[in-house]
Amino acid sequence: MSTDTAEAVDRQRYRKITQVISGQPTSDGAGVRLIRYIGSQSLPELDPFLLLDFFESDDPDDYIAGFPSHPHRGFETVTYLLAGKMRHEDNAGHGGVIEAGGIQWMTAGRGIIHSEMPEQENGRLAGFQLWVNLPASDKLCNPAYHEYPKDQIPLEHRAEGVDVTVMAGATDQGTIGPVKAVVTKPLYLDVSLSPGTSLVESIPEGHAGFVFVIDGKISIRSDGASNSVSARQLGVLSAGNSVHIEAEDADSRVLLVAAQVLSEPIARYGPFVMNTSAEIEQAIRDFNTGQF
Ligand code: MN
Repeated sequence: MSTDTAEAVDRQRYRKITQVISGQPTSDGAGVRLIRYIGSQSLPELDPFLLLDFFESDDPDDYIAGFPSHPHRGFETVTYLLAGKMRHEDNAGHGGVIEAGGIQWMTAGRGIIHSEMPEQENGRLAGFQLWVNLPASDKLCNPAYHEYPKDQIPLEHRAEGVDVTVMAGATDQGTIGPVKAVVTKPLYLDVSLSPGTSLVESIPEGHAGFVFVIDGKISIRSDGASNSVSARQLGVLSAGNSVHIEAEDADSRVLLVAAQVLSEPIARYGPFVMNTSAEIEQAIRDFNTGQF
């Protein structure tokens, strides 16, 4: 390898913000109010991410109806709760309760039918649901779960005022999240920054990524440029091999999520995401004839 190549490999190419999304209020399930970021008109998808919903309310009317029995095929659903409790049960007998700070990475694969219902009648419920696509080779795999409560998820103290909760992937300091062996090699971090502090973190080339600001306000810095992302906004990251996140003048909390781009055709119909319309028709037939 020539010296020039080595330098090119080592050089940090900071990702920039290409789009800031404020989200589209909607409802889903049996009438859960939520804000849709990915899967909305302004950002139909961010390969391999198909959907990102954020829900947050202390009014049970906004969430109590939950997400009764529904199918999925061809992708993964990732639930990360910030507050409250959600009970899930599927048609294979798997069930449990996700609590605040817990994550569930569910690989629907060839098909699952499940419900996701609030395990509370009042109080605050808040969290995310992310859909991550599967490559054609894995769309019909067996369903699987990676499910971890808060106390099984490592918290890395990176620097004074900089703390990183690692759900999936490995940080530059070597902290490894419990969600492993996911085909798109995801990074899923929850980062807390006190005012003026920064996190610089590698993101592999070939991964698509975004930040979602839960609290505060951040800047994404790159070669002299800087873009702000405010609370309850999603910032789409450009290509690059690292990201520099700086908290502005408030305590800030931000999700940093990335995964491998699939670059495959997407055929999408509600809870089925396949590569071709024939595969969608097959999914509907299989669901209607009890094959899930
Ligand atoms: Mn679901």
